[in-house]
Amino acid sequence: MRKHIVAGNWKMNTTVAEGVELAKAVVEKSAEIPADVKLIIAPPHTHLYPVHEVVEGTGVGLSAQNCADHEKGAFTGEIAVNMLAGVGCEYTILGHSERRQYYGETDEKLVEKIHLALAAGLSPIFCVGENLEEREAGRHFDVVNAQVKNVLNTLTAEEMAKVIVAYEPVWAIGTGKTASAEQAQEIHAEIRKTLAEKFGALAEEITILYGGSCKPSNAKELFACPDIDGGLIGGAALKADDFIAIALSF
Ligand code: PEP
Repeated sequence: MRKHIVAGNWKMNTTVAEGVELAKAVVEKSAEIPADVKLIIAPPHTHLYPVHEVVEGTGVGLSAQNCADHEKGAFTGEIAVNMLAGVGCEYTILGHSERRQYYGETDEKLVEKIHLALAAGLSPIFCVGENLEEREAGRHFDVVNAQVKNVLNTLTAEEMAKVIVAYEPVWAIGTGKTASAEQAQEIHAEIRKTLAEKFGALAEEITILYGGSCKPSNAKELFACPDIDGGLIGGAALKADDFIAIALSF
């Protein structure tokens, strides 16, 4: 049975004080969540340590939103994987479409990052997804398969077992447009098939999350799909009640 995960990507939102309050509210309400659903929150880097102090020992996981593509050194403004692990992170989001789109994050850079993250003991939440133009041209399967293969095929099976995949169609992120359950399921199944070509039966064990305007009103339908194992949540993760309501949708 695959792990069910609901992960909240706070992006560049909240002050440290607001983030600590939000984390406290999530921890408090996490008591309502079934034991087979894992909650993860991904605050901005500046919040990681104080939020770690809130979530430590509660079962709520802590994730970064990104990491550097080098281990250490003269890379002004970057945060290394061992720094993230050192403040209590167990996960890091990698390859979010906002990073690919606004910060020139390429598959090559993501290969560097994913290996560094795994070596530091972090589980990557690896994001893939097509943009609107690619979807309208019917190229979504090709685009997503290429993103999956270019990065994840560089891993060993042991490494792959620690990775969480998130399918996030760019046209659905922060737009209020959600992929239909049918659209999401067909591409999740395709990702799993592509993973199986390289990793065989392990593909059945990999958690694949859906992200893109997922909210309490649509989570149930999405999570009912056989290959959707949870959600990566942006906007709705900034309200503890909505985030928890999504996690209660399994
Ligand atoms: C995201 O950015 O990962 C995301 C899914 O955002 P939203 O839920 O706001 O569409």
